[in-house]
Amino acid sequence: MKMVGSESPNDSSPQLAKKYGITKPISLAGPAEADRHRNMELDKFLIDSGLYESKEEAERRKEVLDRIDQIVKGWVKQLTRQRGYTDQMVEDANAVIFTFGSYRLGVHGPGADIDTLCVGPSYVNRDEDFFVVLHNILAEMEEVTELQPVPDAHVPVMKFKFLGISIDLLYASISLLVVPEDLDISDGSVLYNVDEQTVRSLNGCRVADQILKLVPNVEHFRMTLRCLKFWAKMRGVYSNVTGFLGGVNWALLVARVCQLYPNAIPSMLVSRFFRVYTQWRWPNPVMLCSIEENELGFSVWHPRKNPRDRLHHMPIITPAYPCMNSSYNVSGSTLRVMVEQFHHGHRICEDIELNKAQWSALFEPYLFFEAYKNYLQVDVIASDADDMLAWKGWVESRFRQLTLKIERDTDGMLQCHPCPNEYVDMSKPCSHCAFFMGLQRKEGVRGQEGQQFDIRGTVDEFRQEINMYMFWKPGMDIFVSHVRRKQLPAFVFPDGYKRSRVSRHISQQAEKTCVDVVGCQSAFKERRPKRKNDPAMMDAEPSNPNKRVSIRLGCLATGDVDINSEVRSCGKQLGSEEEGVKQNHVHNGETVVDDSVSRAEQTFVSNKLPEVKNEVLAVEKPSPMELLASYELPNAVTGEAYQIGLNGDKVGVAFM
Ligand code: ATP
Ligand code: MG
Repeated sequence: MKMVGSESPNDSSPQLAKKYGITKPISLAGPAEADRHRNMELDKFLIDSGLYESKEEAERRKEVLDRIDQIVKGWVKQLTRQRGYTDQMVEDANAVIFTFGSYRLGVHGPGADIDTLCVGPSYVNRDEDFFVVLHNILAEMEEVTELQPVPDAHVPVMKFKFLGISIDLLYASISLLVVPEDLDISDGSVLYNVDEQTVRSLNGCRVADQILKLVPNVEHFRMTLRCLKFWAKMRGVYSNVTGFLGGVNWALLVARVCQLYPNAIPSMLVSRFFRVYTQWRWPNPVMLCSIEENELGFSVWHPRKNPRDRLHHMPIITPAYPCMNSSYNVSGSTLRVMVEQFHHGHRICEDIELNKAQWSALFEPYLFFEAYKNYLQVDVIASDADDMLAWKGWVESRFRQLTLKIERDTDGMLQCHPCPNEYVDMSKPCSHCAFFMGLQRKEGVRGQEGQQFDIRGTVDEFRQEINMYMFWKPGMDIFVSHVRRKQLPAFVFPDGYKRSRVSRHISQQAEKTCVDVVGCQSAFKERRPKRKNDPAMMDAEPSNPNKRVSIRLGCLATGDVDINSEVRSCGKQLGSEEEGVKQNHVHNGETVVDDSVSRAEQTFVSNKLPEVKNEVLAVEKPSPMELLASYELPNAVTGEAYQIGLNGDKVGVAFM
């Protein structure tokens, strides 16, 4: 089995002769005494921050990898026998486990997953042999839990825990009858006669190998990368799926800085990292080596040839054939956020070098919920923990599209900052979580007086995409709502934070129809900046009267829904924002009523229902997002909440 270890191709002596990377280094300077001192402090800081696993955990990982290696070897032998190959072939039959990702690079922390690749012979395929036969073997084992095959992914993967350690297992069948135990995966011949999926599966290992070969000093690279990954997590810019950067992207950015400063030590490399990337002129690509094309003909990143490659905002090119852009997920908005964070890091590193700040200042968490005045909240609802896992994974994978669509539909005037974390409402952890996005008007662009950002159509398009989920089950739902900073739900704040003016009122689920939110709630009106230095503020303001509120009810069963008997009133809640009684979305579950809500109730009950459409609806199939009714509300105000009273004690809330 191929394991991470002390295979460092490069020792720690000063690098003078060998050239690393595609340009000359920026500086060959080594550390001064002060750099060494700061390096010791940084090392201590990383240890104290718990970034290294214990010896026991490291041992356990090795044992687990050994076990998996034995399992796949046994699996291939069994298939070889069943397929009627000779005894000699059965004896020689082999599969090899390689590691890649953070474990292979030697930068994984406690509890990290292990990314593994199983390479098998030509006659052992992925669809049947890997995803059915091996899957069944694993499913039978006591040590294996949370087994989850993902055959349709861009890179097909089997996810599971083995003795509690998370494993991502890929499979590649190469064009050899016998896989040698010492197979060199960096050799281009492994790519002969294999399909694109196999190339992608082999790619992670080949990339990790190349990175370790292309940096001047592996240990310096590792410590710097550990530090930058931790920094990126604390600053909210570590997440491939949300459009920021993931492990391999950060590794490539750090590796390039190591090449540019071959004799620098980590304390220097961290500050050089920020210096380089605050000045980088994106979309110039970051590359560790030149892009090779060869006769195998797999497509490589080539913006002159491929128009799509020209659209990439932050190309970070993988160093193994076929070279690809590892960060195609980055959008204009996430790039902007990351560059802001690079500037922040750069300022702090300058202070650290002047002894005006400590390393801890660099890792101060980014306060996402303090940074904006307006947010979009995407609530994800499911009936149980399993459904939630699948459904929120789907929503999360599409969340990035919402930022792209909003920026597209507002011509980039409304900028989005997706938050990579999910927030779980701990009062119902299995059934509710939420994603958030900060919103601001593009800096330096003055909106016309009265101009609104109406993203209702955009949000509807996003919802439709979400609802195309192939494995949708009753109870799976999403709600998108516009929230102001003051209206953020308490569960987004760290433990112990208690807002004094919180209102929660949550509907009870009906037997047949559950009260769900309600229409689209996303018309923003720009207004003049209140403060000189805050030109990007955006606020909801009173707008035209008689707004229409759309009601959506999630129907959990088929049959007729009499909307008139379900909806008893619709009206404005009591209270201003200052009173903290605004609530703009509602979910199934228990009702939590506090004083302010009771006051709100009293007001809205006295309102009359002005108009009801679609009185009885035949519900043919359970649907999470049926549009059931709409109401014309006199003097409705954009940005405010309206309550929908339903039969029983159910309360829904519409948000204009
Ligand atoms: P982490 O510590 O977050 O697990 P990691 O480097 O292991 O960091 P993963 O997200 O687990 O990152 O991905 C594992 C590996 O899969 C990467 O190191 C890389 O080889 C491959 N990979 C993941 N995303 C991409 C991508 N966008 N392009 C190319 N390779 C990728
Ligand atoms: Mg990983």
